[in-house]
Amino acid sequence: MFGRAPKRSDNSKYYEVLGVSKSASQDELKKAYRKAAIKNHPDKGGDPEKFKELAQAYEVLSDPEKREIYDQYGEDALKEGMGGGDASHNPFDIFEQFFGGGAFGGGGSSRGRKKQGEDVIHSQKVSLEDLYNGTSKKLSLTRNVLCSKCRGKGSKSGLPGRCYVCRGSGMKTSIRQIGPGMIQQMQHVCPECSGTGEVINERDRCPQCKGSKVTQEKKVLEVHVEKGMQNGQRIVFKGEADEAPDTVAGDIVFVLHQKEHPKFKRKFDDLYVEHTLSLTEALCGFRFTLTHLDGRQLLIKSNPGEIIKPDQYKAINDEGMPHHQRPFMKGRLVIHFNVEFPDAGVLSPDKCWALEEILPPRAGKKPSDMEVDECEETTLHDVNIEEEMRRKEQQRQHEAYDDDDEDEPTMPRVGCNQQ
Ligand SMILES: [Zn+2]
Ligand SMILES: [Zn+2]
Repeated sequence: MFGRAPKRSDNSKYYEVLGVSKSASQDELKKAYRKAAIKNHPDKGGDPEKFKELAQAYEVLSDPEKREIYDQYGEDALKEGMGGGDASHNPFDIFEQFFGGGAFGGGGSSRGRKKQGEDVIHSQKVSLEDLYNGTSKKLSLTRNVLCSKCRGKGSKSGLPGRCYVCRGSGMKTSIRQIGPGMIQQMQHVCPECSGTGEVINERDRCPQCKGSKVTQEKKVLEVHVEKGMQNGQRIVFKGEADEAPDTVAGDIVFVLHQKEHPKFKRKFDDLYVEHTLSLTEALCGFRFTLTHLDGRQLLIKSNPGEIIKPDQYKAINDEGMPHHQRPFMKGRLVIHFNVEFPDAGVLSPDKCWALEEILPPRAGKKPSDMEVDECEETTLHDVNIEEEMRRKEQQRQHEAYDDDDEDEPTMPRVGCNQQ
């Protein structure tokens, strides 16, 4: 397809973009790029397209190998050689490689150029009392922070310590001409810096962090558990996770985990408590005290003439959990009543007779003597249905397990038959 003379595509555009002559030295290129890149940086209101062009032009011309290809064969040859374009070359990365990052101070805007650090998630155990009354817990943590001596550069000089072999890209490219005008470019991980793009000269290493850019810091965080917070609620310390160069530090997140309370259960803002009454209390009235989550003693009593039935619920307003952020508003305290009946033999026939005088009459129509004569006698026995069901379920599971065991030896047989 190609003639003997290699096809030349445009090979002057990059020089024009940077505003330098074709014979410009590396220094002249650098100066030109620096001036134009700062002027056109989108953070300073520059045109992003122009900024991208500058980065592209500088990237090629500052690399002697690539510049040679460009001069000889033009932009197209370079693109072909790249094997599918150089979309991965972020103009902001090139800018930051050039200026060593943070050119505009304070890390600049975070438009995705900086990596997002990972969040650190801790489970924070709290009691229901903590959630009712509010509390604060001090936690001592060790985290990485950017070295204060070298400000995260890792070097004494403050220079980024770009790998001299790959020029910071982490990749090494070798170019091979495989025909006239046809160039194959191969990329592999740079052996000098193992792909990090960085090698800090031993003599230039920061003595405090030894070139690692970060040091460890002990930090005490105070976790404020506010009244009414929920189990599973997150308390976030923004940007307090490990710091790393060119990274937006993640958050430290405490997830509240409420320990089970022996007496109270929480459902949203209501508190539930179980209470067992004797049959006499259920019928004739009761009073008892309950220690609340803040230590107050509540007197709980029945209304006059009231009868409590087994499994009945009653509620006390405003004695539940405080609403989070509106702690003066509270849910209800719900009491679930059990009624304990007396054991067999407590009531003799004459006591029963006395009770029948007081309690409502027996339900239903009593069968006549004649009807009874025609019936078959039966006897009531005690059963524990729940226990029986549980035992049957266990047995069923055990049998299923045994069946699995028996299946096993048959498996290889299936395999053999297929041969
Ligand atoms: Zn390298
Ligand atoms: Zn340091």
